[in-house]
Amino acid sequence: MRLPGSTQLILAASFLWVAPPVPAQSVAPVIRLSVDLREAPRRIFHARLILPARPGPLTLLYPEWIPGEHAPDGPVSELVGLRFTAAGKTLPWRRDDLNQYMFHLDIPEGITSVEANYDYLSPALGEGFSAGPSADSFIAALEWNLVVLYPAGQPSDSLLYQASLRLPQGWKFASALTATSQGEDHVDFAPASLTALVDSPVLAGQYLRSINLAPDVTPPHRLNIAADNVATLEMPDDQLAGYSRLVREEGALFGARHYNHYDFLLSLTNNFHANGLEHPQSSDERAPEHMFSNPEQVLLYNSLLAHEFTHSWNGKYRRPAGLATADFNQPMKDDLLWIYEGLTQYIGEMISARSGLRTADDYREALAYTAALLDHRPGRTWRSLEDTSLSAPALYNEGTRNWSSWRRSTDFYDEGWLIWLEADMIIRQQSHGQRSLDDFCRRFYGAPDSGPRVLPYTIEDVVTALNEILPYDWRNFFESRVYQINEHAPLGGIENGGWRLIYNGTPNAQIHAREDVTARADYNFSLGMSVETGAGEKNGRISDVIPGTPAADAGLAPAMRIVSVNGRAFTPAVLREAVDSAQKSTKPIQMTADNAGVGRSFDIPYHGGERYPHLERNAGQPDFLDQSLQPLIPFKP
Ligand SMILES: [Zn+2]
Repeated sequence: MRLPGSTQLILAASFLWVAPPVPAQSVAPVIRLSVDLREAPRRIFHARLILPARPGPLTLLYPEWIPGEHAPDGPVSELVGLRFTAAGKTLPWRRDDLNQYMFHLDIPEGITSVEANYDYLSPALGEGFSAGPSADSFIAALEWNLVVLYPAGQPSDSLLYQASLRLPQGWKFASALTATSQGEDHVDFAPASLTALVDSPVLAGQYLRSINLAPDVTPPHRLNIAADNVATLEMPDDQLAGYSRLVREEGALFGARHYNHYDFLLSLTNNFHANGLEHPQSSDERAPEHMFSNPEQVLLYNSLLAHEFTHSWNGKYRRPAGLATADFNQPMKDDLLWIYEGLTQYIGEMISARSGLRTADDYREALAYTAALLDHRPGRTWRSLEDTSLSAPALYNEGTRNWSSWRRSTDFYDEGWLIWLEADMIIRQQSHGQRSLDDFCRRFYGAPDSGPRVLPYTIEDVVTALNEILPYDWRNFFESRVYQINEHAPLGGIENGGWRLIYNGTPNAQIHAREDVTARADYNFSLGMSVETGAGEKNGRISDVIPGTPAADAGLAPAMRIVSVNGRAFTPAVLREAVDSAQKSTKPIQMTADNAGVGRSFDIPYHGGERYPHLERNAGQPDFLDQSLQPLIPFKP
């Protein structure tokens, strides 16, 4: 048995430290990286690297495994125009035969430094994290892994980079990096380890606003927002207050912070793919431009910043040992993503309610939808939750997901939510409300305060820490939910929390918001499919079908386009009306659909009407779920 104090001491030897900005004792030669963003609106990032070198073979790497992306998705195909020179002469290079991220050079006698010039071409369309669309006419979100090369064979902690940036005229920037000098369109940053550089992106833009959150809290927190126009930078006061409370609530939950300052770097634009990427002292969030003002977008995105911020503790500071690699080209082990992402999902959703960024009702509607969706996944019959963690690189990369419920997806996020909710409810129930998962968070992720650093853990460390909060068979708890195959989603957290999952004809607020934002009609829990409702060719296209449901049994499949319903041309309203009126009829719903140019009719004998999931209170049980949503620092709504 290990006590918390001794745990810290034992693991102290295996800390991977992120180098402080200027390590006093370091003798590592500095690599200079200059990035020119003046053509960012044309989606070209120019880069120049000056690297100390010795005569003989030199191998350089382009980052492949990107922290937080959990996949070998470094966009090496977008690295173009690569040229090396030394002492004014071009140096030939050759890509490795087996590793497309590796470049070989032979440095001639008498050479002490090599210069590399290259471009990164940022895509205009598509998905992806750092490799997704990252620039438009007014915003550039620069993750340094896109524009860096580094010498093979040295840990990223030991390489020192001095970065500088040129910006389009009139643009401003924000970053967790320390600026040492700044001109009108030029900024020099203090030297940082390659680890810290890749973990400190820059948000640049013509319209950029920096807001101090929770000024009463030390260290400082800034919310930096870049947008495509100045009006989008406006933020309702209640949401601003909510994000300040988020800063305080996270501090109260964990009891310590592991950064010297924190910068949210938020791009509000419809031109990027919405997502977030965590870093220890900052986070790179991309969301649609009305994230703060459109009620449906608010509902979908009000936990995005909380999720990425939580990663500063769960993911960046404490990280599964298999994800704490020495450099960006070592493969990562994704087996514990159900903790890294799953617990972050639970905390991010829950703490958004504690912070008043969403109501308890909104939280429960989102939880009901998540639980229902996971419970309607036939893929559960052939693969475990752990298997989705292990398959993360493939699952992140799926693009259009037909038959997604038969595949399963990156379920370790949302099912992690359900599992960690259940762990929390068990602790609350068995300790009669005296303890909770909050105590685990403080013990595992908390004191002492520190700057960025990595303290790796194993599943055994997690089980031990949970047992210190509440003695319980945690090993079997995870074994049965994560590692074994389960036909049904783990709903014990909802039930132990004093609620139950039900279905009725009342629309679910979360589903309604998703239908609105993604232009889709959601019949997952009735017909068993979802249908695109956007204009043009997409109207009526079936985005997905769940095997074993009435739609699937009738022969419908993803990518077919519904042409008519009960003899009337398809519109979302016609389909809804058909589903509703079938409740009073014995006749099947009749559809015709186009399958890549071939038309066919389908009969769906479904009479259950619209069905949406909700949580219903079980009055016989204490409301531990509501307890978990109470702020640690009370406030008046
Ligand atoms: Zn995450």
